[in-house]
Amino acid sequence: MINLPRQTKIVATLGPASSDPAVLEKMIAAGMNVVRVNFSHGSAQEHIDRVHLVREIATRMGRDIAVMADLQGPKIRVGSFATGSTMLVNGAQFILDARCKEGNDERVGLDYPELVEDVKSGDTLLLDDGKIVLQVRKIINSEIYCEVKVGGVLKNRKGINKMGGGLSAPALTSKDMEDIRTATAFEADYIAVSFPKSGADMYMARELTRASGGHAKMIAKIERCEAIENLEELVKASDGIMVARGDLAVEIGDAAVPAAQKRLIRVAREHNKLTITATQMMESMIESPVPTRAEVSDCANAVLDGTDAVMLSAETAAGKYPVESIAAMDRTCMEAEKSASVTLDADFLNRKFTRVDQSIAMAALFTAHHLGVKAIAALTQSGSTALWMSRLNSGVPIFALTPEEKTRRRLSLYRDVRTVMMQYETEDREALLAKAEQALLSAGVVSRGDLIVITIGEPIGKSGGTNTMKIVRIGEHIG
Ligand code: PEP
Repeated sequence: MINLPRQTKIVATLGPASSDPAVLEKMIAAGMNVVRVNFSHGSAQEHIDRVHLVREIATRMGRDIAVMADLQGPKIRVGSFATGSTMLVNGAQFILDARCKEGNDERVGLDYPELVEDVKSGDTLLLDDGKIVLQVRKIINSEIYCEVKVGGVLKNRKGINKMGGGLSAPALTSKDMEDIRTATAFEADYIAVSFPKSGADMYMARELTRASGGHAKMIAKIERCEAIENLEELVKASDGIMVARGDLAVEIGDAAVPAAQKRLIRVAREHNKLTITATQMMESMIESPVPTRAEVSDCANAVLDGTDAVMLSAETAAGKYPVESIAAMDRTCMEAEKSASVTLDADFLNRKFTRVDQSIAMAALFTAHHLGVKAIAALTQSGSTALWMSRLNSGVPIFALTPEEKTRRRLSLYRDVRTVMMQYETEDREALLAKAEQALLSAGVVSRGDLIVITIGEPIGKSGGTNTMKIVRIGEHIG
């Protein structure tokens, strides 16, 4: 496998701008680690075809690329207009009417009639990602009478959020359940659940995935007020979270998002969970070949916050410069990583470990940092040792050596973990260590004479977790 020097991973959303094999190849070469398949757009067959294409190209290029299926969730939308849109003028009245079939200048329908029960006079509704603001004045039967506070052109099927949260729509719709089956059919490595409110939503998504035969890990998109309130519970019920800044900004207010992002990443890492920072990271690159200074700073700050991955949405799905967007993230992350702080000693203070594999992982990390070794090599089947190690920044690269393709793909999302393919068909410890040295040398990530820390599970060949750490000088087992 080819290993990139960058620690932070890049998630890129697939779409019409990234369906051509030549473009996908360039995106992989530019440093894409994970593809996001967005079930809010496109048909199941389109998604299946794109995933097969990505996997085929990645295999040819010798790269491990994870696939994340992002469920649409209960996005509440206005209905359609006879003319496709209407102009809302500040101060005017506009009615959201659950019974309206075809919108006009006075009213529009709703795809979620229950919204009528979820709002009260005085509530603020944000349409089209907050570009249009309505204040609820009164509710009569199926009609929500609003005053336009910030007007603009309202087009067909634009989203509605309620400031402060409180929408009762369940996190998993019947479309999501169908899409989980599709994600299982293309062996998604991750499933991102939109608008979860509690741990129960995540347990349900996991259960449905397992029932369909899938093994995808679960990412909770944090985009509701309730998700912030129930953060610990949601984090515990998930394998990772996405800071879904688009909808989150609408629910909690845009100014509250930067601090929320820092807290979300910190809490997830403390619970040994993954984090993805998403939305508008290189937004101007939808139209422009270079990012703005603010976008570069935003992306770098996410790296400094400790995110595992930064995500591109429309930039790669529908933008003019999908490859350049990845390249811009790549150089931004690499530069930011140079100044990311290593606080290992402070992070270890008063830590208690409950698991043997976790204790070995932490011992390896501490030793590697203080001994100043070249790398840590984790011989792992499931990838859990690499996960523990990657939750703290030691400044030492972590290489996960595994024969499992699914594990290697999944690890593509973990910060600071790089994967190396290695078969374990031996029960002899010395032979296994020699193979590990050889695999690292062949991957070009170490040289003869380098000191590294290796973690393994003994007895070799028996299933069971990592329980051994060894400091090895490269060449020692291969002569
Ligand atoms: C977001 O709201 O930031 C987000 C990632 O969700 P989506 O783009 O799927 O609506």
